[in-house]
Amino acid sequence: MRQVAVLGATGSIGMSTLDVISRHPDRYRATLLAAHRSVDEMETLCRAHQPLHAVMSDPGASAALADRLSDLSAVAVVSGAEALDALVADDTVDSVVAGIVGFAGLRPTLSAARAGKTILLANKEALVSAGGLFMEAVRQGGATLLPVDSEHNAMHQCLPVASDGLPDMTDVEKIVLTASGGPFRGRSRSALEAVTPAEACAHPNWSMGQKISVDSATLANKGLELAEACWLFDRRPDQIEIVVHPQSIVHSMIRYRDGSVLAQLGQPDMRTPIAYCLAWPERVDAGVAPLDIVAAGRLDFEAPDLDAFPCLRLAQWAITQPGGMCVFSAANEVAVAAFLSEDIRFIDIDRVIEATLKEVDLLEPDSLDAVQALDNKAREAAARYVASELTRLKG
Ligand code: NAD
Ligand code: MG
Repeated sequence: MRQVAVLGATGSIGMSTLDVISRHPDRYRATLLAAHRSVDEMETLCRAHQPLHAVMSDPGASAALADRLSDLSAVAVVSGAEALDALVADDTVDSVVAGIVGFAGLRPTLSAARAGKTILLANKEALVSAGGLFMEAVRQGGATLLPVDSEHNAMHQCLPVASDGLPDMTDVEKIVLTASGGPFRGRSRSALEAVTPAEACAHPNWSMGQKISVDSATLANKGLELAEACWLFDRRPDQIEIVVHPQSIVHSMIRYRDGSVLAQLGQPDMRTPIAYCLAWPERVDAGVAPLDIVAAGRLDFEAPDLDAFPCLRLAQWAITQPGGMCVFSAANEVAVAAFLSEDIRFIDIDRVIEATLKEVDLLEPDSLDAVQALDNKAREAAARYVASELTRLKG
């Protein structure tokens, strides 16, 4: 029986994970559920899964949840980030699903790495901001790192396993990272000026949380995923080609030196990569409908439009700079939040990122404190830019 900690249990990744877990009660048990402050959803999940620990990062939410679950003595309700860091390293956890969104997911994921757990990594922001530190923690802790992000999961599936259990990159010429292009694919920059958060969050193929949905619409997500692939598969950015594939059926490809290209295909349903990571190296039923390739009919591929979606170009530059992706990701989080609350326009998101990359002194963070300091600096710079835009628009 594998004991699984689901971080971000109330989110899109968390709920998909718990769906797969509930299909295999003989193999998996959710022993720890963690979320931010959604008390209603957490109560429902705790009653259904009866974890040993339920962690809310918000103290008020934690007190409210404890109150609601007072009849369930088997579930201990715990509060705060430090408690979560300790619990993911506990003996009651074998696998950790890193499904918290944003930089907030870094600390518990690092803790899981140091404790040598099997990490099912969905949270790409943590890896992108603290890649060197994180990969070192995985190595030193002897952790197993499995990518949940559909593209990186596809790459993992198309690579042989070396004797050390890691993906064997020996004969790989290029990784082909696919992108759906998001809901605004094909639009010009001027046609993006008035798009709303609801339109940006309406992804054509995937159902996901708001932040990653906006990232998919701006192509910032593909920039984050480029950095993610570099860390996970020890590649330089020029060894990765980005291709837009609007149907989201081919989830990525590996091109080998003999000209062979291996691809992983499947429905756009995160339960497939989650089930792959839960069962690896075995396979289990994920509850996903079989892919009907005849009904799908066509698979199209095109180059990304970097003029309409400059976030990807900014990421391609930032990835070559020390600490660049930490600053990119922090500025993007601030900008996306401001767009979702309708303080800035969609086309201001890349402007916030660009201004932040110009303002903050870029340097490679060599400790968790340094990563946090750089992330903070970037957030402050991005927030200042957002505030000045607000003043300008009002004035
Ligand atoms: P979501 O918004 O649906 O859920 C986020 C979860 O994180 C929630 O459970 C929330 O309570 C929790 N959370 C937020 N802030 C927190 C904090 N400060 N402390 C503790 N918990 C906190 O997001 P999602 O779509 O599930 O995405 C989660 C992560 O997985 C993101 O990093 C995203 O990029 C990545 N990812 C998601 C998908 C997808 O299909 N949804 C695909 C690939 C990668
Ligand atoms: Mg992805």
